[in-house]
Amino acid sequence: MTPAALLLAATKTRPVFWDFRPWLEALWYVLVTISIAVFAYGVWRSLHRYRQGRRTRDYGAALRRMPAVIRGLAGQGLLRARNRLAGDAHAAVFYGFLVLFVGTVILLISHDLAQPLGLGFFHGNFYLGYSIVLDLFGVALIAGTVTFMVWRGLVRPPRLDYRAAAAGAGTPARAAGYGHGDWAFLWLLLIISVTGFMQEGVRIAMEHPGWDGFQPVGWLFARPFEGASQATLAAVRHGLWWFHGLLAIAFVAAIPYTKATHMLQGVAALALRDPDATRRLPPTAAEGAAGYATLRDFEAAHLVDLDACTKCGRCHAVCPATAVGMPLSPRDVVLDLRELARTESGRGPLALGALGGEPVVGEGGEQVRSAALWSCMQCNACVEVCPVGIEQAPIILEMRRGEVEKATIEPTLQQTLETIHKTGNSFGESKRRRGRWTKELDFTVPDARERPVEVLWFVGDYASFDPRNQRVTRTVAELLHRAGVDFGILFDGERNAGNDVRRVGEEGLFEHLVEANVAALGECTFETLMTSDPHSLNTLLNEYPDRDGRVVRHHTAILTELLAAGRLGPTRPLGARATYHDPCNLGRLNRGFEAPREVLAAAGCELHEMPRNRENSFCCGAGGGRIWMKDEFGAAERPSEARIREALSLGVELDYFAVSCPKDVTMYEDAVKTSGNEGRIEVREVAELLLDSLG
Ligand code: SF4
Ligand code: SF4
Repeated sequence: MTPAALLLAATKTRPVFWDFRPWLEALWYVLVTISIAVFAYGVWRSLHRYRQGRRTRDYGAALRRMPAVIRGLAGQGLLRARNRLAGDAHAAVFYGFLVLFVGTVILLISHDLAQPLGLGFFHGNFYLGYSIVLDLFGVALIAGTVTFMVWRGLVRPPRLDYRAAAAGAGTPARAAGYGHGDWAFLWLLLIISVTGFMQEGVRIAMEHPGWDGFQPVGWLFARPFEGASQATLAAVRHGLWWFHGLLAIAFVAAIPYTKATHMLQGVAALALRDPDATRRLPPTAAEGAAGYATLRDFEAAHLVDLDACTKCGRCHAVCPATAVGMPLSPRDVVLDLRELARTESGRGPLALGALGGEPVVGEGGEQVRSAALWSCMQCNACVEVCPVGIEQAPIILEMRRGEVEKATIEPTLQQTLETIHKTGNSFGESKRRRGRWTKELDFTVPDARERPVEVLWFVGDYASFDPRNQRVTRTVAELLHRAGVDFGILFDGERNAGNDVRRVGEEGLFEHLVEANVAALGECTFETLMTSDPHSLNTLLNEYPDRDGRVVRHHTAILTELLAAGRLGPTRPLGARATYHDPCNLGRLNRGFEAPREVLAAAGCELHEMPRNRENSFCCGAGGGRIWMKDEFGAAERPSEARIREALSLGVELDYFAVSCPKDVTMYEDAVKTSGNEGRIEVREVAELLLDSLG
């Protein structure tokens, strides 16, 4: 466009109400007012529901974070989608809708505020810019919506099959209702955006305004209308205006009551998200019942979470319990609770049931059953993948706390908790036997309570008492000794660290254990606190009080440093092929991905990654106290067996299934046997492989 033409364009604009009689304009404003009122009532209803929850978080800070969340949505939320196409489609729909919505608001401000005051700005270059921006974002909205339709209608990923609900009632009727709702949402978006362009096309066909480069999509939509009479175009233009306008205001009114509401609560949930979810659990409520038994017990942020769920099914797809056929799907827990929250709105206590598949929360169609709660491994895979920052695992944990409060827990779990209470360990061994594994070493391990040490090793229950793990523990000790590390342990001063005790919901016992361990640690002088147990690492690092800035490290991190400093001497590469399983508490929860791989590399193992590695790792099935529970709730196989299958289907003849967690040693050695794969692969701790390579 030449400068002269641009100058001419300064006079360009378009009317908001074209050829409208005054009473029609008035009718439009009445309808818009009704739409806004219905929208506002829906928002108020949701806020009223959230206000019934507890508020222990800093909600003011979350409010201040919201603009940053919206700006960063592409990075933090929408594109957290592991599927790039889904992430891009979501971003196209979100930003397309947002820009078109803002464009409509600008139009209203110009027409109803600025123009009456003589400050009209909706013309000239501003209008031309407005026109092209809305055209392009309108295309993005259509492209994103069509992608979703193809995804749902043709690709049909299993995670979008709501009938696959494993927990709660998840009745087929409800699943079908969800499906219809999603399709209605997509069709509405598509029809609104297409009719918007059609209307623009008819206007262009009628007026031939001549700045087609600034409305390219409208120009394309004008092609089919070229040649029609002015009378026909005028009739179509009127009809389309009302059809498009009524659909748009109906859509706005419906937002808080339909799937579209996640546009509001999704942003709020991301702003309220606890970056330490599952890694650091909040203490139980200072007053009232411990855990979640009624909706009034819920943290308000968790009530927001329930509404934010888009039913994308990502958590459903990655949950190890769902994968092996246990009666838990984090998506269904969220949806069941959402239905309950909406129908009951926190009026009084919810129906509480007994153990054994009976409802814990709710009755009738929407329930969360105890079997679902106790199937959870607190592995955090669900929280990790949720695009709107929902905290499924902490919500489940809070409901477990409610169960523990009522003492409706599995007898074997109850027994283990009592054992820990009595003996300080889950094996029921005398506390004097905690350091017995050192007896077979040909050097003495000092008691860190008796003299200062460089490294204080918090050994953990499995590594201290389980005979197979004691071999690993002695291996780690041998490596530290060879490297000349001055280390010591707590002997009978150590108790179970409490990580899993806390994750089954036994907060009282956890506090008791913390007190004992903190007292024992307080007797010692040391530089670094080391543990070879990722579960202990998680709680010592994130949940123990008053660490005075002390460092807590996993043994693999220390081994890599010793290797780098040449303190372990040269290795003889094993020349073996290994895969490595990331333990949830070291990997996903505390981002300890590299050190174990570096140890494997130093041992000369050729690493073959399983498809689910690092933050996408698949829980062995022991987490969240599951290792202490007998009931597998009809699972088709154990998660550990599924993981061994995954390793064996890599298409590589593997020598080792390498791990870096004592519970993994136990779980996977067992799984190799029970899955009939003995002799095909050997489970080894990375430290064992390193010692082998050192000779
Ligand atoms: S924490 Fe793990 S086991 Fe529990 S619901 Fe989430 S993904 Fe499933
Ligand atoms: S909880 Fe999150 S990941 Fe799971 S279905 Fe809902 S939005 Fe998707």
